[in-house]
Amino acid sequence: MSGYQHKWQGGQPIDLPKGKIVCVGKNYADHIKEMNSATPDQAVLFLKPTTALCSATQAIKVSHLSHLGALHHELEIALLIGEELNRYSKTHTQAICGLGLGIDLTLRDLQANLKKQMLPWERAKAFDGSCAVSPFIKFDEAFDLEDLSLDLVLNGKTQQQGNSSQMLYPIQNLLKEISQVFTLLPGDIVLTGTPAGVGPLHAGDKLSGRLNNQILIDNTNVI
Ligand code: ZN
Repeated sequence: MSGYQHKWQGGQPIDLPKGKIVCVGKNYADHIKEMNSATPDQAVLFLKPTTALCSATQAIKVSHLSHLGALHHELEIALLIGEELNRYSKTHTQAICGLGLGIDLTLRDLQANLKKQMLPWERAKAFDGSCAVSPFIKFDEAFDLEDLSLDLVLNGKTQQQGNSSQMLYPIQNLLKEISQVFTLLPGDIVLTGTPAGVGPLHAGDKLSGRLNNQILIDNTNVI
């Protein structure tokens, strides 16, 4: 929330403002299946405001939400944007300056309810503290955006595992599609969708996350 700042792995602050978070829904076939959902004919996009940001390396606060039903973790590859991308941009991936992990915290029961009523999701997905972000690794050409692994370990057990090769909309296509709709500015974050294995988080849980086998979230307490 207000204390959040983008950081490099190692802890140095990144000289970029907090920006909006553009999220992608239904980007992994195995997650669409576990949700009994249909494959969309275009990327599903939604936003979280800057007040959703919190650090995934500090305690993740969930207790105050317990009266709203199940709160699920969705581990996602997070792209930190370093330069503007808009509908006139010809190339896209060069605008990524950092790779990290984001946890798209989702009030699942509330979301199901809102979906049933054909209402927007923000109450279930864009609340304060709903986007827990890891430190970022500097992005360069050595990374293959179509072969990034991610996994989430909850209380010592691997709960989510995926690879960007399984995305229905690969990262370069996503950035192109997103920037047709929303201009991306330096400091914005793109969350690229979650693989299967989403499930509830409770106070007392401990959560870790790895990107390409690098630990970016190390036993964070859920409180
Ligand atoms: Zn998500």
